[in-house]
Amino acid sequence: MSKHYDLIAIGAGSGGLSVAERAARYGKRCAVIESGKLGGTCVNVGCVPKKVMWYGAEIAHSLEMAGDYGFDVSTNGFDWAELVAKREHYIDGINTWYHSYLSDSDIDEIKGHASFVDAHTLQVGDETYTADHIVISTGGRPVKPDVPGSELGIDSDGFFALDEKPGRVAVVGAGYIAVEVAGVMNALGCDVSLYLRKQHFLRSFDAMLREGLMEQMIKDGVSIFPSTQVGSVVEENGKLTLICDKGSRTEGIDQIIWAIGRVPNSDGIALQNAGLEVDEQGYIKTDEYQNTEVEGVYAIGDVTGREQLTPVAIAAGRRLADRLFNNQPERRLDYENIASVIFSHPPIGTVGLSETEARLKHGDAVKIYQTRFTSMQYAFSERGVPTAMKLVTVGAKEKVVGCHILGPGADEMLQGFAVAIRMGATKQDLDDTVAIHPTSAEELVTMR
Ligand SMILES: Cc1cc2nc3c(=O)[nH]c(=O)nc-3n(C[C@H](O)[C@H](O)[C@H](O)COP(=O)(O)OP(=O)(O)OC[C@H]3O[C@@H](n4cnc5c(N)ncnc54)[C@H](O)[C@@H]3O)c2cc1C
Repeated sequence: MSKHYDLIAIGAGSGGLSVAERAARYGKRCAVIESGKLGGTCVNVGCVPKKVMWYGAEIAHSLEMAGDYGFDVSTNGFDWAELVAKREHYIDGINTWYHSYLSDSDIDEIKGHASFVDAHTLQVGDETYTADHIVISTGGRPVKPDVPGSELGIDSDGFFALDEKPGRVAVVGAGYIAVEVAGVMNALGCDVSLYLRKQHFLRSFDAMLREGLMEQMIKDGVSIFPSTQVGSVVEENGKLTLICDKGSRTEGIDQIIWAIGRVPNSDGIALQNAGLEVDEQGYIKTDEYQNTEVEGVYAIGDVTGREQLTPVAIAAGRRLADRLFNNQPERRLDYENIASVIFSHPPIGTVGLSETEARLKHGDAVKIYQTRFTSMQYAFSERGVPTAMKLVTVGAKEKVVGCHILGPGADEMLQGFAVAIRMGATKQDLDDTVAIHPTSAEELVTMR
């Protein structure tokens, strides 16, 4: 006989764990079904291992500057394998913590691959499970391009599986994952080339951010090949050769890392048995309350194709549980003004409309405040990393609709400004806020 629950989440990543955890707090009987490791993409092959590598890369950049501050330091190499082993040990600890957390929260952990039998029944191996509410939180996975030899390259999951430092690396892609992986590997001593299909990377971001970052990455030694289409990959004498359009060949590559995009895990779960369909890109269609077209079935996180970020999946999951089980019928995630960070070197923090988007939407009512400077930390260093900031304001009251920061500390700087912008801050509100000195952040409240 099937075991029955109030709520089952398919996938125990950021979204699935959050919706089940919040529902369980309301006294509901919950289960998560997970075919891989608890924590999903973020914990195992996303934000967490990425941030560990980013910290390593930041230390490498700091070491370059140590002499400028009077330290007599020589770096005698970097042990990639050691960092990776420590990172994986740290992640194992998070996985273990999740197992006990689920059991302490009375949430059943079902191991295996779930698929729909009908809208309220799931099959996992030989067992079936039923629930009043089923949440699809299956996330996504990286893809490789459809070119000959693409299987010779690795994707972002493969990057995290590397237990030795490659010498020469080609990263293909123009999104944030491509930029972050290229930056980390460059800082940690690989010879990195970044291949972009179009002219720029990070095309949906404010131009100031991508232009400033590209300039710095080139200065830091990343070779960037814009407007380059990869045609095929071949193996020659134990190394890889990337053959691009216009006949160009890059030989002697140790690793090719495809970072060209991700697809939703919406196949293989027999959605048709639940009466569900996907859009043309495979994402599960939901309304603003995360409802699918079928009553009692919901979808959250990356599988819905909205902002693909961990806090977004978490927030959508928690709000869904609040709505279903805590008498908050209007509770839902507002997808506007979601702040995000790119862990590049230096990092980028961004929230709201880019200048281009704002001008398209608000025309002449847009006023821009912008600054660019070198942070005091580089006052006597050759590595003069730029800081660039932009406030996008609209209307006579100069409501701030966008805030974009490139520079050291941008990752930590942005969160507070995101709160202010969500609350409707105007330029005057920022001007009336007394600055914290000496910081880079103070420029955001003193811009003219
Ligand atoms: C390299 C990289 C770096 C990233 N960095 C950041 C960052 O810095 N900040 C940030 O906010 N976001 C980051 N992200 C994005 C973030 O990881 C995702 O947005 C987030 O994990 C989405 O959560 P989710 O719950 O939708 O899916 P996931 O976390 O992917 O979880 C889905 C889970 O479902 C399981 N599953 C799938 N199908 C089934 C099935 N049929 N049965 C059982 N289980 C199933 C999968 O095994 C997986 O564990 C990064 C992603 C990548 C790839």
